[in-house]
Amino acid sequence: MEACDHAEGSPVGQCAICDEMVCSECFRSVFNEVICNAHDKLEDESEWVLVGFYSDREGLDERRYTLADHSIPSVIAEVDEETIELYVPNDDKEEGFALLDTQAEYTVLCAGCRIEFTKNIGACPLCGVTRVQDAAESAGD
Ligand SMILES: [Zn+2]
Ligand SMILES: [Zn+2]
Ligand SMILES: [Zn+2]
Repeated sequence: MEACDHAEGSPVGQCAICDEMVCSECFRSVFNEVICNAHDKLEDESEWVLVGFYSDREGLDERRYTLADHSIPSVIAEVDEETIELYVPNDDKEEGFALLDTQAEYTVLCAGCRIEFTKNIGACPLCGVTRVQDAAESAGD
């Protein structure tokens, strides 16, 4: 894939995966977020799997940095103001989930779906189960 010098197009924003600048000539998208053409294999939503579901953005940047440290790309998809989803590529689901597992007190984990979600959501958004493991507890032992 040839790199775009962004001279032809007008700026569209930053890539949701790598923060590179993206212009109107080279932009692609996934989950309605702009991505750059370095991720052409990840342009299809079926390449991604939900790993987190949040009611606000608290701690999300830290999560993305942690994932990036382990070479796991991630995308934050803002469904609406109170629904924010975190996706990783299918192949990185287990490792990505394990990394989230060590995080904050305001989230819980659904062990069945292997996703993290904000406590105030109450029940797993995927399976509806409310009896979930506390993220802080599971990090303990
Ligand atoms: Zn460009
Ligand atoms: Zn990018
Ligand atoms: Zn679930």
